[in-house]
Amino acid sequence: MKVGKEILATTSRREFIKRSGVALATLAFPNHFINISKNNQMTDQKDFDVIIVGGSYSGLAAGMALGRALKHVLIIDNGKPCNRQTPYSHNFITQDGKTPKEIATLAKQQVEKYDTVTFLNGLATSGVKTNTGFAIKTESGKAFSTKKLIFATGIRDIMQGIEGYAECWGISVIHCPYCHGYEVRNEKTGILGNGEYGFEFSSLISNWAKDLTLFTNGTSTLTAEQTEKIKSHHIEIVETEIEKLEQTNGHLQKIIFKDGSNFPLKALYARSPFEQHCAIPETLRCELTDDGYIRIDPSQKTSIHGVFACGDNTTRIRTVANAVAMGTTAGMMANKELVFEEF
Ligand SMILES: Cc1cc2nc3c(=O)[nH]c(=O)nc-3n(C[C@H](O)[C@H](O)[C@H](O)COP(=O)(O)OP(=O)(O)OC[C@H]3O[C@@H](n4cnc5c(N)ncnc54)[C@H](O)[C@@H]3O)c2cc1C
Repeated sequence: MKVGKEILATTSRREFIKRSGVALATLAFPNHFINISKNNQMTDQKDFDVIIVGGSYSGLAAGMALGRALKHVLIIDNGKPCNRQTPYSHNFITQDGKTPKEIATLAKQQVEKYDTVTFLNGLATSGVKTNTGFAIKTESGKAFSTKKLIFATGIRDIMQGIEGYAECWGISVIHCPYCHGYEVRNEKTGILGNGEYGFEFSSLISNWAKDLTLFTNGTSTLTAEQTEKIKSHHIEIVETEIEKLEQTNGHLQKIIFKDGSNFPLKALYARSPFEQHCAIPETLRCELTDDGYIRIDPSQKTSIHGVFACGDNTTRIRTVANAVAMGTTAGMMANKELVFEEF
């Protein structure tokens, strides 16, 4: 019989226990091997207190709160967090400068310690209301029932139709100065934006960058007053339409314009349009805000009783710290609702 990591990687915990006996397994392997074998190996359990769709920072934080509250939780995640292309994550206390994956891996290891939490790698594809709560199905055809639902599904950034933009996203095309502004503070920096947003972003980014240019990518829609104010801060405004971003491995070299001219640059701030990463909240009729976020109250409750949402799918304040804080609240409030209903 194969023993050690190999068998644990290729055999489900159930099969392993059957073949070796649980007492022997517990004696022979350190606890974390047993835990690793449990994770991502679905048990036969079909009914949960809470299903969390999305197992990145926010979903894991919700999972920890619920695991510590002794609730049976299923976390379904298909491994596509929004920051996966960014090399280093900043501004999350205790984890500053770590890779996004390091932070998520440590978080998952800590949640895995709670026996009542189960993980499933996969895509949740549908959700319906039932008499006892909700039913969730996955792409691979698995079906589960749950009393409460938490969506920690994030948002999907839509890459602007500029060649090279997607490659640079999170590396040298930056969505947030608080996450990456410090690292590029001395670089030749641009802002891609126009109108109100272009003006607001120009004034904010001037805090970090002294060599700053605003690219409106077409005729400026700034007011005369905004234009004057921007120029008074020595920020150049370039209206020429952009053809592509010339880059090497995501590191921006220059902007190439449609008229053939170019502009060397190291960092470009931009806000991408977005859509909800997961459509299930909308099919359950959770209300969205005018901006496209899931509407929540301060307890992370959506407009549908028993459904909670947390993290990027609910807010413009897009940071790991905020996603974790909201996830913790969602977990606590889902537990509270369960306890009070069942008391
Ligand atoms: C490029 C970039 C760089 C960033 N850098 C920083 C930084 O340096 N510091 C910082 O604090 N913040 C940073 N952020 C913001 C931070 O990454 C987000 O605020 C945070 O990831 C939000 O966590 P979340 O759990 O809400 O969503 P996400 O991390 O996006 O995770 C959502 C999870 O849900 C899963 N999912 C979605 N739908 C389904 C489904 N139907 N079934 C199963 N799973 C599903 C996804 O696969 C994903 O794993 C950055 C963001 C971006 C885009």
